[in-house]
Amino acid sequence: MLEPGATIGILGGGQLGRMIAMAAARLGYRAHVFAGEGDSPAAQVAATATVGAYDDPHKLDEFAAAVDVATFEFENIPADAVRRVAARKPVMPRPEILEITQDRLREKGFLNGIGVATTSYQEVGDLAALARALASLEGRAVLKSARMGYDGKGQVAVHPGTSPDGAWLRMGSGRGILERFVDFQCEVSVVVARGEDGAMAAYPPVENRHVNHILDTTIAPASLSVAQMREAESIARDIATRLDLLGVLAVEMFVTRDGRLLVNELAPRPHNSGHWTIDACATSQFEQLVRAICGLPLGSTERHADAVMKNLIGDEVHTWRQAIAEPGAQVHLYGKRAVRPGRKMGHVTRLLPRR
Ligand code: AMP
Repeated sequence: MLEPGATIGILGGGQLGRMIAMAAARLGYRAHVFAGEGDSPAAQVAATATVGAYDDPHKLDEFAAAVDVATFEFENIPADAVRRVAARKPVMPRPEILEITQDRLREKGFLNGIGVATTSYQEVGDLAALARALASLEGRAVLKSARMGYDGKGQVAVHPGTSPDGAWLRMGSGRGILERFVDFQCEVSVVVARGEDGAMAAYPPVENRHVNHILDTTIAPASLSVAQMREAESIARDIATRLDLLGVLAVEMFVTRDGRLLVNELAPRPHNSGHWTIDACATSQFEQLVRAICGLPLGSTERHADAVMKNLIGDEVHTWRQAIAEPGAQVHLYGKRAVRPGRKMGHVTRLLPRR
């Protein structure tokens, strides 16, 4: 067990790192952030920060030497950087999990391999493969870059008449995955924490509404049947176990119109759809991560309220003034100076009586 006072390294300087650092501080741990810029959202609230590039071995070694354990807050941190730190200090979740989730093809292969249903898909390695796939396509599909995609980046909606050249260019990267379009009833996610002894704590499934491929609103809990709620949670627990996860995992799923659950994506870290847990649960997803990687017992996921979490994206950040005057609205701002379209600037959680 790592005693309070120890230093938790966080690779990545975004808002997730910020909220991990705040949860760490609450339990008496020190956070040390590694990020490309000095004034990152996470570094602003951390005890220490290393400013460096992910391909700078000296900076990575300096960071590793200064921490007792490390984690990451962003999936697209180069695997080599994470492995370099892991050769020197424990990194949790283990880097192999990050590598699986960094590649949509590996991720779906892993999920199908353990019997978890996903949307049907095929690999498209090059333009010629895409042209062949589009020629035999029945119905709509989504072309995604296999790597480095998030918030809808590198995604192109396609149909049987789509020109392969245009779609390939818009996807904009080496290897692609062509997924059947899911005409879903809703999107849900489950955040689960798993500790050293295999103990697990899951939050209830929540419903996620996206605007322009970016999470806009999370409704906690989701309005699924009791059986679907159980199934979603059990899928998440199963994946966490099969990954031998130590930390926090978010599992995003589509609920199809005929009631099936298809896993869309995994994130081996706290997730935007779990932000509501800060204000509505006994233990937040961020504290669970700190507990899991420090070898403390996981906390209770009991919720004292239902919640609706609204992201403040781009210019929406200016609505904080109204929100802060609203009784019961919990305002979270990430300390980002530049407002850009699509940039997550903060969020507001509104608590509601438990259903
Ligand atoms: P992703 O980056 O895979 O999480 O995709 C971002 C969002 O795009 C998802 O949350 C869905 O709203 C939408 N999306 C992605 N893949 C599909 C699909 N195969 N069918 C329908 N919608 C999708």
